[in-house]
Amino acid sequence: MDPESFRSAGHLLVNEIADFLGQLPKLKVTTSKSPTELREVLPEDTLPIKGMGTNDLILGTTKLLIENSLFNGHPKFWGYITSSAAPLGALADLLAASINPNLGAQTLSPIATEIEKQTIKWLGDFIGYGKNSKGIFVSGGNMANFLGYLAAKKSAGTNSPEGQRSKVLYCPIGTHTWVQKALDLFGGGTDIIRWVRTNAKSQMDIGLLEQLILEDLHDGKTPFLVVGNAGTVETGAVDQLDGIAALCKRFNLWFHVDGAYGALAASLPELRNDFNGLDKADSLAIDPHKWLYSPLEAGCLLVKDNLCLKNAFSHKPAYYNFDGTDRDEPLNFHELGMQNSRGFRALKVWMSLRQIGSEGLKGMIGHDIEMAKVLYERAQAHDNLEVLTNNLSITTFRYIPDKGNRRYTQEYLNTLNQKLLDNLQRGGHVFLSNAIINDDYCLRVCVVNFRTRESDLIYLVDKVISEGARVHGKLEATQ
Ligand SMILES: *Cc1c(COP(=O)(O)O)cnc(C)c1O
Repeated sequence: MDPESFRSAGHLLVNEIADFLGQLPKLKVTTSKSPTELREVLPEDTLPIKGMGTNDLILGTTKLLIENSLFNGHPKFWGYITSSAAPLGALADLLAASINPNLGAQTLSPIATEIEKQTIKWLGDFIGYGKNSKGIFVSGGNMANFLGYLAAKKSAGTNSPEGQRSKVLYCPIGTHTWVQKALDLFGGGTDIIRWVRTNAKSQMDIGLLEQLILEDLHDGKTPFLVVGNAGTVETGAVDQLDGIAALCKRFNLWFHVDGAYGALAASLPELRNDFNGLDKADSLAIDPHKWLYSPLEAGCLLVKDNLCLKNAFSHKPAYYNFDGTDRDEPLNFHELGMQNSRGFRALKVWMSLRQIGSEGLKGMIGHDIEMAKVLYERAQAHDNLEVLTNNLSITTFRYIPDKGNRRYTQEYLNTLNQKLLDNLQRGGHVFLSNAIINDDYCLRVCVVNFRTRESDLIYLVDKVISEGARVHGKLEATQ
């Protein structure tokens, strides 16, 4: 492809994307086609032998995606924690892919390495983790948490098999499933996890944590790590990080915080107190593809000093000439994490941060929190809705046929709300997910979406009410 063909193909594509962004609010949130039907819309069954024209390929592929996707950038998408992507991020990814630096080593990515370092420093400062934060970009929250776990494990020393088996780590019930994956993948096994009960606000019970640590020490176990949550995935609960940090200090344990969802909200002055102790974490996972509105993928692990990552990941094979003796010390990111060749994920984050500035970003995060509150209040006021939680930008609630009387069993209400969620998701007009709170199945809305307006949430409440009544009518008739 010569530069002139690239120019015309690029203009064509950008025009198509701009049209898509313009019509996005009027599209359905997701397709209703089944996997089999989707397979049938693919243009070819076997790999084409002959190629095709670039323009037709661009137009055809754009159409295929727009007609058959779920749009997490849609103003009425609030499922899981998947944010709307900043359009600038898409352009930044194009730029990164075009220059194509490999951020494994500074020699291979001279300015890109400096941009990644600066982005990490800005992010750490923005959320109050520290003015001189270090760390690394990874693909997402899971990977960032894995790196934190591996740094903790390395810092606790490489032990004999018996020593490995005696190790224990602590995390509150409700910690994201990355922790099971980490223990399965990287030794230890899920049996060494101590799931600590939570209080009424879904925060780790710190008294219980202390008691468990003491018991384990007494039993000859080796505690090495405590995980705290800065925004749980289900309800957005933030642990009492200060209290956990104090216990970690007292018992000399690694303190890792999973802030994949919530840590960015620590930037808001009105919420700062809720995150007290965040700065004491030895490692902190954040997820720019959530509350920084980066297009997938971008995760990040913050640490105080890269040494803990180097200890865990650095090897210097003879075939790498990356240490440049005659200049100041380069930073080679391959020594700080699991990847060797690495893409320029930091660019989209760096450009977005510069485009909007820290005040602008706080405004966007604050807006999402405000939207979740609006939904909470509207649902609370409604006769057929019961609210359960509202933390950060997550609100949970459920449809309830008789709010005052409570004639229906938990089992009935759970079935009703589960069917209701299925119908809402399949209908394609709104998209939310679910949470289980004290065994109650409820609907869960997480607003990480700069396109959501109050009118979208009013629409949602109306939809839940009408659909809820329909599902209830049908379900009751079959009982
Ligand atoms: C989303 C999330 C994760 C996983 O992050 P991915 O980017 O999906 O890999 C882990 N922990 C919490 C609290 C999260 O919200």
